[in-house]
Amino acid sequence: MEKAKTNSNFIREIIDRDLKDNKNQGRVHTRFPPEPNGYLHIGHAKSICLNFGIARDYQGKCNLRFDDTNPAKEESEYVESIKKDVGWLGFESASNEFYASDYFDRLYQYARELIQKGKAYVCELSPEEIRDYRGSLTEGGKNSPCRDRLVKESLDLFTRMKDGEFPEGSKVLRAKIDMSSPNFNLRDPALYRIKKAGHHRTGNKWCIYPMYDFAHCLSDSLEGITHSICTLEFENNRPLYDWILDQLVVHHPRQIEFARLNLSHTVLSKRKLLELVETGHVSGWDDPRMPTLSGLRRRGYTASSIRSFCDTIGVAKFNSIVDMVVLENAIRQELNKTVQRVMAVLQPLKVVIVNYPEGKAEELEAINNPEDPAMGTRKIPFSKVLYIEQDDFKEDPPKKFFRLAPGREVRLRYAYFIKCLEVIKDKTGRIIELHCSYDPATRGGDSPDGRKVKATLHWVAAEKSLKAKIRLYDYLFTERDPNKALDGQDWKAGLNPKSLEVIDECYLEPSLNNAQPGQRYQFERKGYFCVDSLDSRDSSLVFNRIVSLKDEWAKIEKKTN
Ligand code: ATP
Ligand code: MG
Repeated sequence: MEKAKTNSNFIREIIDRDLKDNKNQGRVHTRFPPEPNGYLHIGHAKSICLNFGIARDYQGKCNLRFDDTNPAKEESEYVESIKKDVGWLGFESASNEFYASDYFDRLYQYARELIQKGKAYVCELSPEEIRDYRGSLTEGGKNSPCRDRLVKESLDLFTRMKDGEFPEGSKVLRAKIDMSSPNFNLRDPALYRIKKAGHHRTGNKWCIYPMYDFAHCLSDSLEGITHSICTLEFENNRPLYDWILDQLVVHHPRQIEFARLNLSHTVLSKRKLLELVETGHVSGWDDPRMPTLSGLRRRGYTASSIRSFCDTIGVAKFNSIVDMVVLENAIRQELNKTVQRVMAVLQPLKVVIVNYPEGKAEELEAINNPEDPAMGTRKIPFSKVLYIEQDDFKEDPPKKFFRLAPGREVRLRYAYFIKCLEVIKDKTGRIIELHCSYDPATRGGDSPDGRKVKATLHWVAAEKSLKAKIRLYDYLFTERDPNKALDGQDWKAGLNPKSLEVIDECYLEPSLNNAQPGQRYQFERKGYFCVDSLDSRDSSLVFNRIVSLKDEWAKIEKKTN
């Protein structure tokens, strides 16, 4: 991967200071800790770029740690998808792959150590009682009657919890901190609970599992992490993170919080994304409308465009919503320079060039990418019958419509000037064909007599064209912030009913006959497209539109305002 020029941010400034103070013997070690209960999304990409990017730029390390302490929800399918996505984003993790579940033995020993130090106890209140005893925002909590039981007794009960003697919910191990703390997280939080469930890695070895707050800080510590970077929701958990590590006198990483990414017109919660998959609102985690990395990849986004997006949005300490347009611009900017431009007609209207000789075929030269002359040129066929876009013709053109109309002349890209002579309609009055003339002197698209036309249209020659199915995507949600409650309605009510439009028969220029799955193109005037990696076959091409050429929504909003 090329060396990125990453912008500095407040986290890098903290690290710079720590290095200057020679903290951690000059080491920088971060981690990315996904819970394997869903596929990674663009928000995770922000965290991956941040953590792995820091490791790369400071000659440090970044661990990919699966936070698999919750046995009921985790699945190996998710673990595999996460590894694939991190690698695809361009970060090497195979040599730094860890599982919190590998620490279960040591976490158990740390828990015993806390009990021995009088810092944890087995509590036998029911979950409801624990909630009642916790107090409220305005009122301190009440001590559990188990709080002052003997160390010996807690140790014995904890051993028996591990040995499976007690039912779920009957006992928990709690930290002994402060039931009157203004921070709820410090009101004797649970550290271990009984859960009689198998685990994807440890099988049936355990029937007690550590809580997130206990496992997380100690996993960081065991791995020698120096900077534990997490999202702002964990700011109130930091005192607990620090408390646990302080009691045990172990390596103590520094937790630093940053604002999570929110993206307009989509949701970035694994729970909600899973619900969309399970209810069939999308075709799967990799549906090209999903904000998942697998969905974006299938849509046609490149890893480099996502890295560049993450760099553009930066890292801050306040929550905000980044406009989807910023992500779209990242891929536009890249593909504008890198992909071949071709012609494709999505909504075909037949054009017959009446003065073009029957049976004649010629090849015209087209430029592959005007931004990059090194990409060269290609030949495109021209013949008597062509297709143009239906909306490039209007029988009764409004004032500012400069494209084709009866009696009007326009340029066909890389070809000729044509003039509309006659409009052919079917019995219902629908336009089915145009009869045009062409001017042989304008070959290549220039008029020797200096005649001007006001529009250039893309087109394909009918006979030699390829057929393809094209999927046009729009935002998954019509609302900018679909997380905002919609007057008591289900959050899915905000889904955009027009997020997918399928056009079954589009016509492409024949140079696309070698298009491979995953290959990207600019269809002139229509946007950037990618050959679908699952549904496309040699015999039936399927293209996904990655993004239009311009921000269509900005145009619409301008019009309606
Ligand atoms: P969810 O709330 O959807 O369950 P999560 O935060 O619990 O997501 P994890 O798998 O625990 O998901 O996340 C792994 C890492 O990615 C965490 O460090 C988390 O802070 C970070 N992360 C998750 N979502 C975002 C986001 N939207 N922006 C930035 N970082 C994120
Ligand atoms: Mg989480």
